[in-house]
Amino acid sequence: MNIQTMVRAGVLGLALCMPGADAWAQATADGAVREKAVPILVTEVAPGLFFQYHHQESNNAWLVTDDGVLVVDSRQHPNRAEELLAAIRKTTDKPIKWVVNTHAHGDHYFGNSVFKREGATFIAHRDTQRMMQAHHGVEMKRRQGYFKQRQFDPGDVKLVLPDVTFDSRLTLTLGGREVELLYLGAGQNPGDTLVHFPKEKVLFSGGPFSKNSWPNPQFTPSIANWVALLRKVAAMDVDTFLGGHGDIGARQDVLNEAQMLSEFDAGMRAAVAKGMSREEIFKSAPFARYKDVRNYYRMNLFINSYYHLLTTGKPLVALPE
Ligand SMILES: [Zn+2]
Repeated sequence: MNIQTMVRAGVLGLALCMPGADAWAQATADGAVREKAVPILVTEVAPGLFFQYHHQESNNAWLVTDDGVLVVDSRQHPNRAEELLAAIRKTTDKPIKWVVNTHAHGDHYFGNSVFKREGATFIAHRDTQRMMQAHHGVEMKRRQGYFKQRQFDPGDVKLVLPDVTFDSRLTLTLGGREVELLYLGAGQNPGDTLVHFPKEKVLFSGGPFSKNSWPNPQFTPSIANWVALLRKVAAMDVDTFLGGHGDIGARQDVLNEAQMLSEFDAGMRAAVAKGMSREEIFKSAPFARYKDVRNYYRMNLFINSYYHLLTTGKPLVALPE
């Protein structure tokens, strides 16, 4: 992979926009990178267990065993999945046996076709499968700016659905290594899968947790449940917490996200109870103490989404009935 190219693509820095909804929509739909430039980093967090941190996009993990490789998430385009495969190939020549899609956001499953070609079997929670089926068009639409800015062909993205689904827990054994897939209910998304490596005391939580990063709340049915889920995650016998975005985390980072989300929940509830409109909330520049957190430039989108949930009882992008 060409890390220098990616660094150069990410030099725009954090652009804060406080315009009305229309201007904001233009400002966030262009796919421009507004995050600080951080090179892609691969870390072996436990023997044979690797974490790839890509600050400007999304993260991955892979476990190398004697019998093959398990990959967590597949990136936002087949081009990026090819780069991920090249990074994996620097660590092993074993076949890719399993891919877990932690949730149904395009930046975590649009690269699936590359690993399908490699012969992988795909696993996800059954609600992730339903979200992928129902909202693939929505996911494609909201990522057109990303494709355009990077000159990636959207036509290369093929929907590859899970071969295997689970409801609450699935234990996989590969080459003597154990991986537990856990579902503790919806956090950021229906279907949010926690990938637990019990012996290594490592957890990859693609949707609910991202270190020092504002999550997009347009899919969650309940921020209170999401906060409770994060507190359960923080109570697990785990030392290393890996998120779908952001760098390698510790227990306190999970608790920090729970705190940030509960303040967002309380602040938004208070604003809606006062009868404030979306525009009035945008203008009040809320949650500014978190302005240095990754993704803050999208705050108006987050306010818009949560306003929708609080006033209609339904997420903007919901699990199909
Ligand atoms: Zn993501």
